[in-house]
Amino acid sequence: MSDFSLIIRFDDIKSTPRAFEGELKEELVAEAVDHLAGKCGYFPAGKTIVSGDIYVTASGEAIAQGTIKTSLKFKCVSCGKSHVLPLEIEDNLIIVPKNHDLAADLDDADLIGEGMWEDQPDVYTFSGHEVDLTTPFRETLIVNLSAYPRCEDVQSECQKVTKEIGTPFDDDDQKEKVDPRWAPLLALKKELMDQENDQENDQENAQDESFSKETKEKDAKKSKKH
Ligand SMILES: [Zn+2]
Repeated sequence: MSDFSLIIRFDDIKSTPRAFEGELKEELVAEAVDHLAGKCGYFPAGKTIVSGDIYVTASGEAIAQGTIKTSLKFKCVSCGKSHVLPLEIEDNLIIVPKNHDLAADLDDADLIGEGMWEDQPDVYTFSGHEVDLTTPFRETLIVNLSAYPRCEDVQSECQKVTKEIGTPFDDDDQKEKVDPRWAPLLALKKELMDQENDQENDQENAQDESFSKETKEKDAKKSKKH
């Protein structure tokens, strides 16, 4: 077990990195992720654990090097197949007290108030004595999720081309049905074959005619001799 949960007294963060570990509650994760991909997801499929090290620099910034481990359910936006997406996301956060120089550089209008996190990339501010890693790591999770999750994201294939699934086509259906996209090509192919046949017939007819013409001429010559 780690010494720190996700809520840490700033005074307890020293220059020597110390471990922290805690759970992002399922309701918090669900609320954060459920509209990211529309009706397709995401939904928590297990515990979300954040762990890592935190230390403070000589100039007073806390650096949290964390890893989020979780599993989320989603449905492929292409074919609707359900999947569980295992995630392991690493992120480094810079955390400074509100009165720190770095915090002063941030736009005051973006500061949301007591105990709230500043929504600047990688730099978070806090008020009071405690640092809560819950919100910044929840944001890390959000920004790392695709808005269009697909089968390929979990090294799977979409249902239409996956034979093992057996739906929506079974094998017999597939043999009988011609993909409508091929229909114009098949029609063109048939047309070309018909044309070729016609040309061959014409050539044969032409040969026959010249042959018969020759024969007639010979016949004519023969008859002249007589
Ligand atoms: Zn799919």
